[in-house]
Amino acid sequence: MKTCIICGRMAAKTNKEHVIPKWLLKMTGHKSRNASLGVDWSAAGLRVRRFPFSALQFPSCTKCNDRYGVELESHAKPIM
Ligand SMILES: [Zn+2]
Repeated sequence: MKTCIICGRMAAKTNKEHVIPKWLLKMTGHKSRNASLGVDWSAAGLRVRRFPFSALQFPSCTKCNDRYGVELESHAKPIM
């Protein structure tokens, strides 16, 4: 069981919801580029934490994924 990032309910089956949709990453540059997110305080010195944008994923239940991940993005994509 995982918690859906959108509705907050527990779900036995979840999808991986990308914070930045893969199609938007590809549309706006290289899809494998990194995001700079904060500072790694556990490392010596102040080192910026970097993650691939594509790794920024959270669990979402099927209902939320269909509503927000599929339906909403289908409306947003032509506008972008
Ligand atoms: Zn949900």
